[in-house]
Amino acid sequence: TPAEPLTVPLRAAVAALPAYVPGARPAPGAKLWKLSSNENPYPPLPSVLEAITRAAEQTNRYPDMFATELVEALAAHVGVPAEQVVVGNGSVAVLGHVLQAVVEHGDEVVFPWRSFEAYPITVAVAGGAAVTVPVRDDGRLDLPAMAAAVTPRTRVVMVCTPNNPTGPVVQAGELEEFLAAVPRDVLVIVDEAYLEFVRDPQAPDGVDVLRRHANVVLLRTLSKAYGLAGLRVGYAVAEPRLAAGIRAVSTPFGVSHVAQRAAIASLEPTAQTELLERVSALVAERDRVTAALREQGWDLPGTHANFVWFPLGDATLERAAEASAAGVLVRPFAGDGLRVSIGEVEANDAFLDVAARWRSAL
Ligand code: PMP
Repeated sequence: TPAEPLTVPLRAAVAALPAYVPGARPAPGAKLWKLSSNENPYPPLPSVLEAITRAAEQTNRYPDMFATELVEALAAHVGVPAEQVVVGNGSVAVLGHVLQAVVEHGDEVVFPWRSFEAYPITVAVAGGAAVTVPVRDDGRLDLPAMAAAVTPRTRVVMVCTPNNPTGPVVQAGELEEFLAAVPRDVLVIVDEAYLEFVRDPQAPDGVDVLRRHANVVLLRTLSKAYGLAGLRVGYAVAEPRLAAGIRAVSTPFGVSHVAQRAAIASLEPTAQTELLERVSALVAERDRVTAALREQGWDLPGTHANFVWFPLGDATLERAAEASAAGVLVRPFAGDGLRVSIGEVEANDAFLDVAARWRSAL
């Protein structure tokens, strides 16, 4: 410990930041199912592991700063020109860069709550003033209330679809109405982290929306459906001038060479097919788990992501402790609810047993 106490003040916004609480991790050697971080339970594909191993040999060199090949692969995947894609160290970093590119000190940023816990943190770090709009009781975003929360001082509105941690998606029609109501100089960030798990035909096609609305930016990630959470690759799709602004504030060399090569290997057509088959298996598991929970008598929001949400209120922390004692790590949000990721079949079964016990204790 230094001899002198710290006399340098932290920025007020930083001193007041809420903590980002990561999902619990099993202690080394502990036999616990980890359903606490919306991760993909499948191990990396052999072709991806091979790309990682080969790329690791170049660890003494900086990566391609512009991630040219990865950006081109993502652009082809999404169906936009490469100038519209910006990559970063996980989509949470890209979100920070988007906000830093547009938010002036004190600008209002509207976002739903409860939603992704990084939102209040990234908004405060960017110097923005958070304006939260409660999600509805059924877990859906209240887009009319979010549009109504926009003032002349609003610079950004964030739309999380499917919403983490509640699960529902916004509908194409309601998003269109929302965009018509929001001024054109307000940026609308559509966070599609769980896009590949969505099976709702009424869900919007983000790229189509972006083509018609230059004030929209899509936020996507390879952490969930693509199973690369540990390598940190996320991206934004935006109008070219906006994309250039986001790139300008991005961390130099922010995506490692290993991460770039693993992501490129994941986007190869054969890998893509296999990965999307895994996603379909996870979607089938999600639907099986949801049906089983309803059968148990739970009234839960419909989910289009790789997790389910239990609005348990004050019982949340106690229930989370019971789940972990039963060998299942879940993610509690104190006083609000529990989020349970869809994992291996055995993990989901272990959780269903826990949920059945909660039911009979009611
Ligand atoms: N957006 C949402 C809605 C999320 O749930 C997450 C991950 N929890 C992210 C973004 C960030 O993911 P990553 O940084 O791994 O790309």
